[in-house]
Amino acid sequence: MLKELLSLIYPPSCLHCKSSDCSITKMLCKHCAFDLELLQKKECCSLCFKPLNNYESTLCSACHKTKSFPKIICAFDSFGPALAMRNEMHHTPRKMLAKTLAAFLILQYFTVEKTPPDLIIPMPEPWINKLGKKESVNTLIAKEMSRIQNIDMLKAFKCPHYFSKHQLRMYLKLNSSFTKHGKKLVDKRVILIADVIHSKEPFTKASQLLSGFFPSSIIGMGLVHLPNAKGA
Ligand SMILES: [Zn+2]
Ligand SMILES: [Zn+2]
Repeated sequence: MLKELLSLIYPPSCLHCKSSDCSITKMLCKHCAFDLELLQKKECCSLCFKPLNNYESTLCSACHKTKSFPKIICAFDSFGPALAMRNEMHHTPRKMLAKTLAAFLILQYFTVEKTPPDLIIPMPEPWINKLGKKESVNTLIAKEMSRIQNIDMLKAFKCPHYFSKHQLRMYLKLNSSFTKHGKKLVDKRVILIADVIHSKEPFTKASQLLSGFFPSSIIGMGLVHLPNAKGA
């Protein structure tokens, strides 16, 4: 009875293909779950993790021109069931979904890196993404990663209140509190978490700000590249 009622409120359809062959507790049908495939390190640019057209080089053309900081690791390509899960998380954030996405990010991290990170920092999101939500999607995913791996999380950035076309403006929390937080960054391997990667620019800006607190390394991580991602 409860199951029937729940199915009226939350029709148990696959997030990607909308097939009804999907139980309430699951998010994808068997077919779409089978299609979930993490990006392969050897098939992607070693700096921005975009799929390479030419495997003779380890860098994409954009990273060849500008070797920007930091290195990025991305879990999935810009289409398919992974994007459907990310979009669902964006529209209807929930813990179970955040946990699943966090697990994929951790899995992908360890396919690329051998040493675990020491500190997880969610990337800031534009205020409009946070409308009606208690926490940003990036924070919810970072929190689950922190729980699963028992690694500290630090909300170093406040949500920016506006975007300009060419510049994502973000700022650190009040100086006084960040001075305290800043100490947590010294000699730490930091990962910055975002649900989508539009471009490297926000990661570069965040890394420049955090570098002032002497972390030992910074890596940017995202779930999916967006189809219209510009540059690298
Ligand atoms: Zn499906
Ligand atoms: Zn690249």
